[in-house]
Amino acid sequence: MKQLEAKSVVLLHHHLAALHLPTIRAEAEKVAARAARDNADHLSYLLQLLELELLERERRAAERRLKAARFPTLKSLEDFDFAARPSVNKVMITELSRCEYIDRRENVLFVGNPGTGKTHLAIALATAACAKGYRVRFFRVTELVTQLIEARDERGLLGLRGRLAKLDLLVLDELGYVPASKVGAELLFDVISTAYERTSLMVTTNLPFESWTEVLGSERLTGATLDRLTHRCQIIETKGESYRLRDAKARVRGPKAAGEEHHQGEQAPAPAGAKEGGSKTG
Ligand code: ADP
Ligand code: MG
Repeated sequence: MKQLEAKSVVLLHHHLAALHLPTIRAEAEKVAARAARDNADHLSYLLQLLELELLERERRAAERRLKAARFPTLKSLEDFDFAARPSVNKVMITELSRCEYIDRRENVLFVGNPGTGKTHLAIALATAACAKGYRVRFFRVTELVTQLIEARDERGLLGLRGRLAKLDLLVLDELGYVPASKVGAELLFDVISTAYERTSLMVTTNLPFESWTEVLGSERLTGATLDRLTHRCQIIETKGESYRLRDAKARVRGPKAAGEEHHQGEQAPAPAGAKEGGSKTG
């Protein structure tokens, strides 16, 4: 009897491996012992095992999506200090974290000076999209343009475009920090126009709309790019002074002074000395 059982377990493990059910393979005996103890019937045993397998699969898929998104750092909405950035509407950001704009293929544009939390918010929202099962990829624009130019030289452009076309959300960080070359601008424009109404774009930029021509080189290109980007787009302006700067000032003057200073210009001052880690990255 014992021998027969051992043989069945070996066979069972073999079949479960062949069927690619690693979690059931790892848990079957443990859960069986518990089911016997609890007098659970066969169907509820099976249900428990399948649930474990599914949960583990979902966890691994979420991990893969997060890795594939290539975020430069981890940022979450929980660590965003909305009180320090009153121009950013918390309700609107919370609404965006539900990702319905992705289903509607709408774009999100963050405009504001350096250090005002654009990248932070973009990463946090894109991370929320990953968690909901959307395929996301984060690029700094210069990095994407370089990849596009390299792919063009190696005739790999189709492959790269194909990978971009599979995304639900494409984050383009720092549009306009470095003026792109004419070729780069055209390739970038091509990505934006291909995404139009198919893939949501989330763009951060410190450029006011008037200066976009300088960056993209031609007025025709800029007009067309802006037109596609801003058609069905939510624009979030991160007004005010750099969070890093504010953080540094708070450290120099002491938390009390920084708190008072913010009292004047902002609706809701941040708690004094909050966010010690604010300038760690970026
Ligand atoms: P931007 O992309 O606008 O230049 P970042 O998002 O890179 O700015 O912000 C600079 C640094 O300050 C980052 O470390 C970011 O996490 C932090 N930061 C900016 N705004 C806030 C905020 N309101 N609450 C918490 N951290 C913030
Ligand atoms: Mg940034």
